[in-house]
Amino acid sequence: MTDKASIKHIKHPSPTSPEQRAALMQNPGFGKVFSDHMVTMKWTAEKGWHDAEIKARAPFSIDPAAAVLHYAQEIFEGMKAYRTKDGIALFRPEENARRLAMSAERMAMPAVPEDLFIEAVETLVRTDADWIPDGDGSLYLRPFMFASEAFLGVRPASEYIFCVIASPVGAYFKGGYKAVTVWVSDDYTRAAPGGTGAAKCGGNYAASLIAQAEATKNGCDQVVFLDAAEHRWVEELGGMNVCFVMDDGTLITPPLGGTILPGITRNSILKLAQEAGLKVEEKPYSIEQWRKDAESGKLREAFACGTAAVVAGIGAVRFRDGSFSIGNSGDGEVTARLRADLVGIQRGNAADKHGWVRLVK
Ligand SMILES: *Cc1c(COP(=O)(O)O)cnc(C)c1O
Repeated sequence: MTDKASIKHIKHPSPTSPEQRAALMQNPGFGKVFSDHMVTMKWTAEKGWHDAEIKARAPFSIDPAAAVLHYAQEIFEGMKAYRTKDGIALFRPEENARRLAMSAERMAMPAVPEDLFIEAVETLVRTDADWIPDGDGSLYLRPFMFASEAFLGVRPASEYIFCVIASPVGAYFKGGYKAVTVWVSDDYTRAAPGGTGAAKCGGNYAASLIAQAEATKNGCDQVVFLDAAEHRWVEELGGMNVCFVMDDGTLITPPLGGTILPGITRNSILKLAQEAGLKVEEKPYSIEQWRKDAESGKLREAFACGTAAVVAGIGAVRFRDGSFSIGNSGDGEVTARLRADLVGIQRGNAADKHGWVRLVK
């Protein structure tokens, strides 16, 4: 199952023409344009993973009683393939494989073995290599798994589908790397102790959309979620982790611990920050403190980080009865430096000391 020949190629009957593809990739936005193929495989309790295929991207045919449609047993990953001078590169894909396995465990789903995950992703990237944009763009990869068993009883399903699709993307935030404004959600929390906050599951997003809509209504780009118990400690944004840069050269980020998604960008940034001479502290940081430090100038910069948006400065924070701004309200020096360090490695323009880059052969 895990050797390269195990993913069966089914010929695409009508691939996109080069002209059409070029037109689609001119200004792809985020997650709206998709490549020609997809990888799928099935899991059943008797057979384990089987029927791995790469074929024309097409709608699924699933039973209306498929468990995912009722009880949301679904998990996903987000990663990117880059065109570099050395070839096509993935960034720490083993970490995505491990995290998918962790999410699977939390959601009572079967794990996809790491080598099979990587093979699925690489097969899609190789097959749809023409869909990787040049320049600042990348091919966003979306591996995901859902419960396909037709059964309305409540228990972990006994049949699953794992799939990988790909989408050429430009910048995540419209207008490129400009600082974002965030909305502090008063009414809603994202994750509670004992819940699924550390799993990358669709259900977390379903629960966060109303807060994201509120943020948009209030002219903000993203939501900041506070902890569920005290409604005081900053956890993360809707789909990104958050870091604070203080005037004494400390970088603070909320600690992982079950309610925060363990971002691969977060982990990479913490290492790069240490190497850049910052003192990294994973410790709770409250919204009152955030405001106080921003107003006193102790807080120099804040930024959000994740695969999709990479690193985005936070210029201002709004909440129901007020707002405050951070630093120069724009992209801070440390934010820009850490982004440049990370992007340099991802795009093959800086030394890969950590062995984070994997070239797709
Ligand atoms: C995916 C995700 C992140 C960022 O993780 P990366 O591995 O850095 O892309 C942060 N928060 C949430 C809620 C996420 O779903």
